[in-house]
Amino acid sequence: MPLIARIALNRPLRRLFDYIIPEDLELRPGQRVRIPFGRQQATGLVVQVGVEPPPGINLKPVASALEDWPALPKETFKLLSWASDYYQHPLGECLFTALPPALRRGRIAEEKTEQWWNTRDNEATLPANAHKQKALFDWLRQRPKGAPTTDILKAGFARAQLSALQEKQLIETVSPPTRDTFNDAPELLSRRPKLSLAQASAAQQLAAPDEGFGAFLLYGITGSGKTEIYLHYLKQHLGGQDQALVLVPEINLTPQTVARFQHYFGGRIVVWHSALNDSERLSTWLKVRNGEPVILVGTRSAVLLPFTNLRTIIVDEEHDSSYKQGEGFRYSGRDLAVYRAHLNNCPVILGSATPSLESVNNAEQAKYHLVKLEERAGNAAPPIVSLLDIRSRPLEGGLSRPALNAIEQTLAKGEQALVFVNRRGFAPVMMCFDCGHMIECPRCDTRLTYHRRDRAMRCHHCDYQTAATEHCPKCHSDAFKPVGQGTERTEDTLATAFPDTPVVRVDRDSTQRKGSIQGILKQVNSGKPCVLVGTQMLAKGHDFPNVTLVVVVNADGGLFSVDFRAPETLVQTLLQVSGRAGRGTKPGKVLVQTCHSDHPLLKTLCEGQYLDIADQLLKEREEGHFPPFRAMAIFRAEADTMEKSLQVLDTIKPLANTTGIETWGPLPAMIARRADKHRAQLILNARNRKKLNTLLTGICQELDQRMLPAGVKWMIDVDPQETG
Ligand code: ADP
Ligand code: ZN
Ligand code: ZN
Repeated sequence: MPLIARIALNRPLRRLFDYIIPEDLELRPGQRVRIPFGRQQATGLVVQVGVEPPPGINLKPVASALEDWPALPKETFKLLSWASDYYQHPLGECLFTALPPALRRGRIAEEKTEQWWNTRDNEATLPANAHKQKALFDWLRQRPKGAPTTDILKAGFARAQLSALQEKQLIETVSPPTRDTFNDAPELLSRRPKLSLAQASAAQQLAAPDEGFGAFLLYGITGSGKTEIYLHYLKQHLGGQDQALVLVPEINLTPQTVARFQHYFGGRIVVWHSALNDSERLSTWLKVRNGEPVILVGTRSAVLLPFTNLRTIIVDEEHDSSYKQGEGFRYSGRDLAVYRAHLNNCPVILGSATPSLESVNNAEQAKYHLVKLEERAGNAAPPIVSLLDIRSRPLEGGLSRPALNAIEQTLAKGEQALVFVNRRGFAPVMMCFDCGHMIECPRCDTRLTYHRRDRAMRCHHCDYQTAATEHCPKCHSDAFKPVGQGTERTEDTLATAFPDTPVVRVDRDSTQRKGSIQGILKQVNSGKPCVLVGTQMLAKGHDFPNVTLVVVVNADGGLFSVDFRAPETLVQTLLQVSGRAGRGTKPGKVLVQTCHSDHPLLKTLCEGQYLDIADQLLKEREEGHFPPFRAMAIFRAEADTMEKSLQVLDTIKPLANTTGIETWGPLPAMIARRADKHRAQLILNARNRKKLNTLLTGICQELDQRMLPAGVKWMIDVDPQETG
């Protein structure tokens, strides 16, 4: 009897497909194959070999193997299979997530050297109507090393323009630049500080890779020198042939962190993030798969890469919500990192100044070893946080007089200030003061945000936008005004108040262009007086030594939210932003503007240690039957009407209730209509995770077999980050 292979496809199907293995082919799990599928061919991944063929079905043979080695080695394969079951996402899509796009499409796993282009001269005389060619020439001229074809096409140019310029001998093909390597240059290494006593003692509590699995929660206050500990740890413990993984929330925002690793480890550092192009992805993926001794610094999905000799995992800022994938395969990069370390029998270090309540709880349950670092590195002292009640104070652009005075004094001392606003745009609402009309998104149940720079009204929940008007579109009154604060508005206020000082805005709008964050960081790192205005982007791990004052424009957003994670997120964000103050030798000060200065959470924030606050919040979670004391999953449904969405969830609810698992809902989502879809959700809350998992598997099978009303989509989010 012929051997059968069970194969997964990159499709949202909860099933596998059986094929005959031709006699001259040897297949192993994790290997890529070409198979006939319908009238076409598809790329598949072997899940199992030697299975019993289902009776009475004529199976087709596998067409070919794409490599004679498994693209996904055993342990990566195991990790993804586990994740598929845990997060209830189809196995095929999970497995394919671990392949670079080129390999998902069925390309051969070989590095193709890319064609690079550069200009021959600095000037080009081109016919007046050759706008596109001129634009391409200028674009290339700005890149001293030239650019690869893929980047040129991605930037919106066409091959025709490339060949036209080449024919005119204005540009030429060049060899690709060698990667920047910093090698272990002695002058760089000698600049590494010696670990302080506190750092050294923390570092000593982290077990070495050959001691096997261990999860370490490195709780180190902001500026305590955690990154320095990672560097020393890797230098001390990582063998010459070993691989290491360093997960970071967002690389583009914190190029400094990568640079620090590169300065220390040179070419051994490789990066993985969303801005890489396909060939860069393939090249890095191959390095990892070939077992090269890389230290990979990457975002969430790096945890899925096919390491073959992974000996250490570090998860920096482990509390960061960007570790949770928000759509499709909704995995947590942090949680998979812990499981992966377990599979690999190696240590995992979770570092943060504000660890997630899940991790704090795991430390309390002795599942993680808690390592504390409670003083700042160098000569820096922790900042002093105080509340500023703004209930009866007039505000200018959201800022009270005392806050403006504090900024003025900071600048006068030649230092820098940072102003934190939690929304981008100019104002979150435009309102008519005659008729009360507010502009809403036609596709969502939300209001449009006013972006004054672009004279646009934009929805932050879908891609809708429209031109801003000066009059009320309903009654044509000119008493049509922005209400509330956004970063642009605060930026304007500050620019007026401090006309001689640069005011730099940092939010998703101002950092969209590639390299713009680098420019901003450069200005701040020059140390000259300036005011930074921005969203939580500013809270992310930056090291601004000359920022000595942080002003939080409004802390009240998270105080009364219905989301059970809101208080935790609020505390983390406030402490992280505060942590930007006083990281150099000068002491830092934090002013938190609020209308609720007697709120217990804000009060403890000023006095308490994070771990005490975390304990308090954990108690509330326990009393409210929330994670981490319960296992939670959300079923979401969306359709063209709310009735349909609710209907699907209504049929799920009884299935859950027969198992004794608690259900909340179904209810319309917080933003019930988004991009013209009506969304509802059902929360499942279980004491026992295994039981929840079994239930979810059952419901998925049931829903897959059922005919749902047309246009209804459903999805499951296990360990949801947002419950709204
Ligand atoms: P964290 O990651 O905890 O926020 P970093 O590792 O970025 O902290 O360190 C904060 C600042 O202190 C950095 O500027 C770093 O260079 C400096 N630093 C860290 N360790 C030391 C040390 N042992 N001596 C002097 N400066 C240090
Ligand atoms: Zn009006
Ligand atoms: Zn919208």
